[in-house]
Amino acid sequence: MADSHSASTPASARPAPAFAGHPVYVIGAGPGGLAAAYALRARGIRAVVLEKADRVGASWRGHHDRLRLHTTRRLSALPGLAIPRRSGRWVARDDMVRYLETYAEHHELEIVTGVEVFRVDRTPDGTGWLLHASGGRELTGSAVVVATGHHHTPRLPDWPGLDDYTGELLHAAAYRNAVPYAGRDVLVVGAGNTGAEIAVDLAEGGAARVRLAVRTAPHILRRSTLGWAAQYSGVLVRRLPVGLVDRLAGLFAKATVPDLTAHGLPRPDTGLCSRARQGAIPVQDVGLIDAVRAGTVEIVAAVDSFEGGHPGKVVLADGSRVETDAVIAATGYARALEELVGHLDVLDGRGMPVVHGGHTPAQAPGLYFTGFTDPISGMLRELALDAGKIAKAVAGRLR
Ligand SMILES: Cc1cc2nc3c(=O)[nH]c(=O)nc-3n(C[C@H](O)[C@H](O)[C@H](O)COP(=O)(O)OP(=O)(O)OC[C@H]3O[C@@H](n4cnc5c(N)ncnc54)[C@H](O)[C@@H]3O)c2cc1C
Repeated sequence: MADSHSASTPASARPAPAFAGHPVYVIGAGPGGLAAAYALRARGIRAVVLEKADRVGASWRGHHDRLRLHTTRRLSALPGLAIPRRSGRWVARDDMVRYLETYAEHHELEIVTGVEVFRVDRTPDGTGWLLHASGGRELTGSAVVVATGHHHTPRLPDWPGLDDYTGELLHAAAYRNAVPYAGRDVLVVGAGNTGAEIAVDLAEGGAARVRLAVRTAPHILRRSTLGWAAQYSGVLVRRLPVGLVDRLAGLFAKATVPDLTAHGLPRPDTGLCSRARQGAIPVQDVGLIDAVRAGTVEIVAAVDSFEGGHPGKVVLADGSRVETDAVIAATGYARALEELVGHLDVLDGRGMPVVHGGHTPAQAPGLYFTGFTDPISGMLRELALDAGKIAKAVAGRLR
């Protein structure tokens, strides 16, 4: 291939693959793909990572400036390399990017950048996998690890009237910092971690007014209580029954998080773990509680629709109409796996892979997925664990 081999090693410097034949292709050079490639290599399996961007860690490079991990440094490291102590307990975005670059170099991973994989098929003889990639490439692999990311494609709800709306609207994926919003009135839509953090960033960064539109009040956790990271609890209770975790989390929240009902954020009716299973992981507080109590972030009803005209208006679920200088939609992402693997019958009704980690679908043996779960114990930790399971499973198959 004629592409740049960023963070790759000359062929002569690499150990000979223990398994002859085609490499394992890993699609995506985010934390999940890098960890999987390392774990495969550690077992003597040649893994080639295909990345559509021009550098590793593309998702992390695009996150907003203020972002820090809400999982601890130690429990966010990928296998085979610690995140440096100097990054502190809550690793900043830029340090995470540097860590991913170092990770790829340190482990001498074989990465081909600038290659997007469009579709994955079985080879005609059914023994391997054929990847259709940009530039007309057709690549044959002995197995494939899909690591294209849970937060793949920014998603906007199908709001009525959106096409006629004349105001400024962007997805949270395009938000970098509060500078363009100084002195302006901003409506942030969606109270997940991203929406909560952006609302606080805007309030602290000089926006004149910040409203946060909330459909379902989220569970809010202190990132750390008396030095005990919320993630530790997530790890400890991960295998306990859902109902028990819901009760424990409810008690813990009452003891550590003030009641914000008067400010428009009642405690949720559904338990924390039950909600997490539905895909709504709790909001880690990095200033939302204080901002809501101080009134610098105002909670308003969910967005129902948009109206055209000058100025355009946002219609909320309580019937009120809001005029605002900018709308920032923190409304999540689509996995966008349909074109890549949808034809292989490996996705469920929500477009999520039916297996992850070391499991491979019976109808698509040798196809693996990592990074499509969002557990309360932390996704980076999960990616690190899945990497080892995938490598073990692939080694078993190839043997
Ligand atoms: C704002 C934010 C904050 C987060 N904070 C934390 C945290 O504190 N702790 C934690 O544990 N988790 C956190 N996560 C969740 C998770 O750890 C990250 O999203 C992480 O980057 C997931 O890694 P990944 O490799 O699965 O996906 P990504 O990092 O998204 O990497 C996927 C890669 O695949 C590439 N790609 C996609 N499609 C193709 C294709 N068809 N062909 C080739 N390449 C392709 C992309 O360019 C990208 O480089 C956070 C997520 C977000 C969005």
